[in-house]
Amino acid sequence: MTEEKASSQILIAEDEFLSRTALESNIQDWGYDTISAKNGEEAWNIIQNKNIRIAILDWMMPGSNGLNLCRKIREEFQEKKKKYIYIILVTGRDSQEDVLEGLAAGADDYLSKPLNYQELRIRLQNGKRIIDLEESRMKLASFDSLTQLWNHNKILDFFEEEIQRGKRENLPTGIIMADIDYFKRINDNYGHQIGDQALFEVSRRLKTAIRRYDKIGRYGGDEMLVVLPNCRHQNILQVAQRLCTSVNQEKIKSDGGFLDITISVGGVSSSIFPQASSKNLLQISDKALYSAKMKGRNQAQIAQPGKEYMSVK
Ligand code: GH3
Ligand code: MG
Repeated sequence: MTEEKASSQILIAEDEFLSRTALESNIQDWGYDTISAKNGEEAWNIIQNKNIRIAILDWMMPGSNGLNLCRKIREEFQEKKKKYIYIILVTGRDSQEDVLEGLAAGADDYLSKPLNYQELRIRLQNGKRIIDLEESRMKLASFDSLTQLWNHNKILDFFEEEIQRGKRENLPTGIIMADIDYFKRINDNYGHQIGDQALFEVSRRLKTAIRRYDKIGRYGGDEMLVVLPNCRHQNILQVAQRLCTSVNQEKIKSDGGFLDITISVGGVSSSIFPQASSKNLLQISDKALYSAKMKGRNQAQIAQPGKEYMSVK
């Protein structure tokens, strides 16, 4: 499977310098990677832009405090990101009412100051266990077992995330749709099982032809979608070429013998369609793919506004 994001960091949101540095050094000593925020706004910014799966939030902070942040994560962030953030709320307040308020705001756990570090260590281990379980569950649910690629929903999620990030950072996003040529014939001539073997091998070859931070998923049937972060129109041509060659340069060995398989590819980059939504871009690349099929297959067509599709063979 194409690798997910960089490994996660533990967010420490604590306004008070000494408490923050003590938390940082202890947690790092236990082998975790940390990232710190001095107030609620900074913490929220980090949560939106980094891969945070565990957050230690001080209740009392200037601006948006830990309790508000906790609510905000659960209400605004959780739904869209579809991943769980384990929250440990830290506070000097420890009346039962306060504890209940913290838990009602969505905290998973609650620690009182002054902190007992041994206790924090064990509570972090508990949090990590839950996040690890969640990650393996999510991975299984996001994964196409036949091709070993991301599944339809997951690759679309990646694409949407990338488009949003591209907008924030002013970077173009490319996509490529690749579809096996005359795949029905393979099934008809050799049987479905050999068809499955071919599909697996095509997927494996496509994976080897993309960069580490690109994503590839099974869009459906014999069609794959590749998401290319920071990829301009000019670069799509090269990638498309590489994908076609990776599949076709050697015959595919199967239990039915060697198979000569080609793909057709349609691509587009948001760099020359800056106003297009993710849905528009999918439609455009689908049209480009259709054009590649119509022009004889085993080739790539890259979309350009107002012009014929650019061809690479
Ligand atoms: P084209 O060049 O126009 O793409 O022709 P095609 O024969 O590949 O037609 P199309 O892409 O429309 O059809 C895809 C075929 O892929 C239909 C189905 O028989 C086959 N297929 C879809 N999913 C699987 C699968 O999981 N395993 C196998 N063996 N075949 C599949
Ligand atoms: Mg096909």
